[in-house]
Amino acid sequence: MKPIYDILQRELGAAKVLRDEARLETYARDESGLGPYPPEAAVLADSVEEIQLVLRLADEHDVVVVPRGLGTGMTGGALPIHGGIVLSTERMQKIKEISREDLVAVVEPGVITGVLQDAVEAEGLFYPPDPASLAMCSLGGNVAENAGGPRAFKYGVTREYLIGMECVLMGGTRLRPGRRTSKGVTGYDVVGLFCGSEGTFGVTSEITFKLLPKPQGVALLLAVFADPVRAGEAVSAIIRQGYRPRALEFMDRVSIEHVRPKATYPIPEGAGAVVICELDGDADVLDGAVERCAQACDALGAVEVIIAADEAQRRKLWETRRITSPSLRHAHRYKVSEDICVPRSAIAEMLRRVDTIGAQTDLLMATFGHAGDGNLHVNVLTDEDHHDARVAARIQDALGMLFKDTLALRGTLSGEHGIGIAKKKYMPWEQAPELIDLQKKLKRTLDPKNLLNPGKIFPE
Ligand SMILES: Cc1cc2nc3c(=O)[nH]c(=O)nc-3n(C[C@H](O)[C@H](O)[C@H](O)COP(=O)(O)OP(=O)(O)OC[C@H]3O[C@@H](n4cnc5c(N)ncnc54)[C@H](O)[C@@H]3O)c2cc1C
Repeated sequence: MKPIYDILQRELGAAKVLRDEARLETYARDESGLGPYPPEAAVLADSVEEIQLVLRLADEHDVVVVPRGLGTGMTGGALPIHGGIVLSTERMQKIKEISREDLVAVVEPGVITGVLQDAVEAEGLFYPPDPASLAMCSLGGNVAENAGGPRAFKYGVTREYLIGMECVLMGGTRLRPGRRTSKGVTGYDVVGLFCGSEGTFGVTSEITFKLLPKPQGVALLLAVFADPVRAGEAVSAIIRQGYRPRALEFMDRVSIEHVRPKATYPIPEGAGAVVICELDGDADVLDGAVERCAQACDALGAVEVIIAADEAQRRKLWETRRITSPSLRHAHRYKVSEDICVPRSAIAEMLRRVDTIGAQTDLLMATFGHAGDGNLHVNVLTDEDHHDARVAARIQDALGMLFKDTLALRGTLSGEHGIGIAKKKYMPWEQAPELIDLQKKLKRTLDPKNLLNPGKIFPE
C-alpha cells in the first residue's frame, strides 16, 4: 500500500480514511450499474482544508483522485476506474446562508438538493432545479453534472442558478470564481467552465446559488391520449397557448403499462401516451391558464384530462411520472437509461425511430421524459442475461442506433446525465476532433498530470 494512505489516516483520522474492502464497496459503484471499480481508499472530507490536503498529497504522490457526491450519477462519473482515492463530499452538508434580501443561498457541496429546496421554500424563496433524484443526490454532484429536471423547461438547469463557487484544483490550490451579485461579467466565466465538468477540473467545496421568489400558485393537468402522435401535438398546442409551463412531461405506452399497477391515479385502459403539464405563477391567472391548456388537449381527442383539484391530488398525479424509472427497473433484469435530447420538432420522429430500434434489436424500449425541452429518457429493457455476449451486443447495437438517430435529428447525446464513462466512446460522433482537443487542452491546464478523475468524458 502506498505511504499516502498512512499519511492521510494520520492527518485526518481512520474514521475519515476508509481502506477496508467492505466499506469501499459503496464507493465502487454508482447508479450507472457499471463496475464495480473499487478504490484503494475513500476519504470523507469535512472541510475545504481537508480537500486541499488530499489534493496536495495526491499530487505529490502521483495518486488519482475521483470526487464523489452521493453516487446517484447515471454515467459512472464518480467511479474510480483507475483506482486511487475516492474523495467524497457527502459529509459537507451545511446550508451556510439563505439571504432573502440578496436572493442567494450558500451551501456546502454535500447538501441534498431536496433539503435546500425545502429550506428556501420555508423562507418564501425558490430553487427550481429538480432532478428526479432530488431526495438522494447532492448539490456538488448537480453542479458537476449541470443537472436538470422537469422544471428546466421554464426555469433552466443548475447552471442558471450557479453564480459563485469555491473549488480546489489538483495540487491543493483553492479558487473562488464567480460572484454573489445577481449580475457580474468580471473576467472569463470560470464558474460556467466548472459547471458540467463532471469532477474533472476541480473539487467543489462551496456553492453560491441565485434564488427566485417562490411562485404564488401551482396548477397541474394530466392528459391521456390513445395516440402518441396526438400527445406530441398537444405539447405543441399547449406551448402555442402562450404559456410557459414549468414542466411538460411525456410517458409512452410501455412506460404507462409498467407504472399502472402502482399508480395512485387509475390510468384508463388503452392509454398510448400521457402528458403532464404543470404551470406556476400568480394564483388569479393560473385557473384560466390550466383550463385553456386542458381545452387544447380535449380538442386533440384526449381520452381523459384531469386538472388537479388540490395540492394532494397534484402530488398524486406527479407520482405517476415519478415512479416511472423505478417501475421499469424493478420489472426487468437489466435496464439502460439514456437521456438523449432532440429539438422539440423532432420528438415524434425520434419516438418512431425508437420503436424501430426496439423491433430491429428485439429489445423492449420505454420512453418518457421532458417533452417540453426534447429531453427523452429512452430505456432499453431486457430480462435476458446482459453478460451474455450476444445479448450485450444487441444492447450495444440498440444504443449505437439510438445515438446515431439522435444526432441525425440534430440532437445531443446527453440532456442531463453527462457522459462519464458510459458514453465517452460516442463523443467523437457528436463533437469534432478540434473541439475535443480544445477541451483536453483545458483539462491539461488545470490538471497537467491527469490525476483528477481521469478516463472520463473523452475516449482515452
Ligand atoms: C432515479 C434517478 C433519477 C435521476 N434523475 C435525474 C434528473 O432528473 N436529472 C438529472 O440531471 N439527473 C438525474 N439523475 C442523475 C443524478 O442524480 C445526477 O447526475 C446528480 O447530479 C448526481 O449527484 P450525486 O451527488 O449523486 O453525484 P455523484 O454520482 O456522486 O457524482 C456525479 C459526478 O459529479 C462529480 N462530483 C460529485 N461531487 C463533486 C464535488 N464536490 N466536486 C467535484 N465533482 C463532484 C463526480 O466526480 C461525478 O463525475 C438521476 C439519478 C437517479 C438514480
